Formats: sequence, structure tokens, C-alpha cells
Amino acid sequence: MERQLLLGAEAAALGAIDAGISGVYAYPGTPSTEITEFIQHSPAARNRGVRAAWSTNEKTAYEEALGMSYAGKRVLVCMKHVGLNVAADAFINSALTGVGGGLVLAVADDPSMHSSQNEQDSRVYGKFAMIPVIEPSNQQELYDGVRHAFQLSESLSLPVMVRLTTRLAHSRAGVVPKEPEPERTLPAADALPSAERFVLMPVNARRQYARLIGLQRDIEQLAECSWLNRMVEGTASTGVLAFGIAYNYVMEVREAFDMDFPVLKTGQYPLPLGAAQQLFNQCDSVLVAEEGYPVIEELLRGFFGNGQVLGRLDGTLARTGELNTDIIARALGLEPAPAAPVPEIVVPRPPELCRGCGHRDLYLALNTVMAGHPHDHVFSDIGCYTLGALAPFSAIHTCVDMGASVTMAIGAAEAGLRPAVAVIGDSTFTHSGMTGLLDAVNRRSSVTIIITDNDTTAMTGGQNSAATGSRLEAICLGLGVDPLHLRTIVPLKPRLQENIAVISEEIAYEGVSVILARRECVERAAKRNRNT
Ligand code: SF4
Repeated sequence: MERQLLLGAEAAALGAIDAGISGVYAYPGTPSTEITEFIQHSPAARNRGVRAAWSTNEKTAYEEALGMSYAGKRVLVCMKHVGLNVAADAFINSALTGVGGGLVLAVADDPSMHSSQNEQDSRVYGKFAMIPVIEPSNQQELYDGVRHAFQLSESLSLPVMVRLTTRLAHSRAGVVPKEPEPERTLPAADALPSAERFVLMPVNARRQYARLIGLQRDIEQLAECSWLNRMVEGTASTGVLAFGIAYNYVMEVREAFDMDFPVLKTGQYPLPLGAAQQLFNQCDSVLVAEEGYPVIEELLRGFFGNGQVLGRLDGTLARTGELNTDIIARALGLEPAPAAPVPEIVVPRPPELCRGCGHRDLYLALNTVMAGHPHDHVFSDIGCYTLGALAPFSAIHTCVDMGASVTMAIGAAEAGLRPAVAVIGDSTFTHSGMTGLLDAVNRRSSVTIIITDNDTTAMTGGQNSAATGSRLEAICLGLGVDPLHLRTIVPLKPRLQENIAVISEEIAYEGVSVILARRECVERAAKRNRNT
């Protein structure tokens, strides 16, 4: 079939479409967003009626995927690494229930935190859940690896994780697709998974846990002979054990410096210990090149002893951040050529809110109000409005995880902090701010929650959210907010005084108030105008 130039994320998506999926469930998050968007725009997926809508959050996405798998169909679920924290409950338990149709979790990690609040490594979750993990090293392997993951998922009746990292998800290379598989048909009622598997009350859960433990030897054997793992022979006394995209950096160094060190390339976990043993037998020392945490390095130090293992734990590699060719070369005692100087035309461009963004006018009003209070700290959440933490606004003081603005404001209010103000976007509010608002209503907390409603998930490129379509009033009233303290403002400069007055009134109220700061994202408006 014809070669296609694809982002890694798109290669994963095409692999899933060609594996015959019936649905993809996801919440947008960089660098995973493009997987779902590719499926949403794929004519092949649309013709087959593949379900591809955004879910309210990663947990609902995972549970929806598990439901589709229960019904016997193949399904992909996508998220970024921190999203897996949200989905963790469903994810870990699904290793016990097992799956019906193949269920593949594509999770995109972000080493160096290009667009994330931490650097956590999803492979730890894979090990924690005791399921197979695939970590492809290039776009073709991603395409093939996703299809392989579906087969593996069905053969073991387990979810399988495909781990991407930013550099792989967001770089392009040629991919040659293979013949697509047909979509699965719904099984007969008596072929659906039994209650003994899917009702995780203790008697069943213990049996299912024993099954999961019993599968571990098979999972290890499958990794040992996986096509994603292979040895590159060499005679040098220092070898390299390379994982996922790090394999490319290692091979570039090998070629550029005309080196002859042996390399064990690993793309399927658990670690193929037999192959690793062979490498360690042959070498005096082994550099472990893995993106993220020193997950495998730590394991190997326990297995082979500290002296032979080089990596992040002994300082041969930095403990944090992405790897690249220069970093690998230096770790092997080589000096890479100096990088080409950055041309003067390339000026640093720090992130900032777009010109004309409504968040600017909201922060102007909020800062004016808060300046009149001794405690002017504001709890915030994750979205474009988080840029309000930077100058010239310096309007917000927290950003921890999705939904935390509301619940942290509740805690601070209960500690006596006044005013306790939270700023949260419409998408983040439906992701996990709603439950915090319910707490606030139940506890009659003195908090003011400003929902910046721009009718989209702006930060990840303008996807619809569960709040798109102006449903926030109904949601807030349904959760018990007093209609007198559910106010709407339009963050525009001519309305500045009016907005200052509304915010001042609501933070003076000793109870739960919600202010909808409603104005369409200018980027979304521009896109809409382009498309009409
Ligand atoms: S993308 Fe939209 S919401 Fe984000 S900063 Fe730009 S205008 Fe504001």
C-alpha cells in the first residue's frame, strides 16, 4: 500500500482504524490529542461509523472504552500521561476484569514537560496494572505496534498500553499501512463476558487477580520473543539497552561516531530479561537509555548489581528531561560537534494569551477587585487562562491538577481565607470541577467560582467539551447553586466597570457563588469564520 507521511500520533490512529476499531474515547491533552482528531477526520473511520467523540474526562473515556470492549468490539482509548491519573481507577480494575474485544490504551508521556505539569512515566502504571506495554521507536512501529497491541489484547484478554512520548507523537515519517481488518460484529448475548469476570466483588476479584498473576509468565515470554525487541551486535565493552524513541538517538550516535557497541532495542515490556542477560554477559557496563523515569534501570540494578549499570541513577544521564543524540553521545564519553548557532531572526517567544482573548479582560477586572483585599491570591486550573499567572497579569496563584481550583478554594475558605476565588475553564469544569462545586454547595462554602466559558477546549486546539453549547447554567443550578448567585459577565473592555461590580458583589457573599465569564475564544471564532 502507498506510503503516507504521518505524525506518530496519526500513525497510531491509522493503526487503530486498520485494526478494525469501532470507537475511540479520549479527553484532549498534549501530546495525545492528534490521535483522536485523526480518527475524527478519517473518511475510512467515518464510513464505518467509528465512534469518535470527546469524553468528559479520561476516566469516563476509559470506562466507555471498556463498555465497547465488553460488547465484543475493538476500541482505542487515548490520553496524556497525567490523564491516566484520572483514569487510573478504571484502568487498574480493567486488568482484573479483562476485556472482550481488544482494548488498547494509547498514552502519551511528556518528558521535559513541554506542555504538562509533571514528567511522570506511564510505564510505571503498566507495571502496576501488570499488563503488557508496547513502546515503539518510530512511526512505522507505532502503526504496526498498535495493530500488534490489539492482537495481544485479545489473545490475553487484557488491556494493552501503547506508550508514546512527545517527540515521537509530534514528528513525521513515512508509514506503509497494511491491509485493514474488518470491524468485529456484536457477539450473541450468551457470548458476552460473564458476571464472574465483570462483577468485581471479592469472590470474583480474587479469582480474576489470580488469573492476572497466572498470566505474568506468558506476558514475559511474549515480550522475550516480541518483534519489537532485537539485538544489534557489537564488540565494544560498553553496551546500550535502548527503549522506544531513545533507540534512534543511540543508533545515530553509533553511526555518527562509527562505533561498534552492542545495542539491545526494547519496545515491549515486561523487560526481556533473557536478552538483557545476554547483553550484560557480553559487556563490562551497560548504558540504559530510557525516556522518563529510570524504571528499567532501577530493576536492572537490583538484578545485575550497581557497578555494571549506567544511566540516570548514577548521574551518567541527567535525572530529568528528554534524551537526544548529544546527551547519549556524552554519556558514552564522546564529544558531539557544537550545535549550529540559532539565527538572530529566531527570537524567543514566551507564551502569552492571544491578543483579543477574553481572559485578558477578565483578569483586568479580577485584579482590580482583588487589589482591594489583603489576601489577593486566586486558585486556578489548567487551560489557556493559566497564562494569567504570568506578567503583566500575575492574576492567579495555583495550578495543580484538573479541577483543583474549586476544591483548593473550598479548603482555603474553610481555613478562613477570604476571599476564596477559583478560576476554571468550561471544559475543565465539566472534566472534574463539577464534583468540587457539589462539595461547595453541600458544605455552603464561601467561595466564588469563575468559569471562563469560551465554549471550547481552547488550549488543545478547540475541541468540543461536555459544556460546549452553553449548558453551564443548567449544570450549576442542577448542582444546587442559588440562582441569585449564578451571574454572567462578558469579559470585554467596555464592560470593565460592570464586571468589577459583579465580581465584587459575589466575593462579598458568604456562600457559593458562580460567575460565568462568557466570551467565545477568538481563535475558535476565526476558525469558524474560515469554515463558513
Ligand atoms: S486560544 Fe482562545 S482562549 Fe486560548 S488564549 Fe487564544 S483566544 Fe484565549
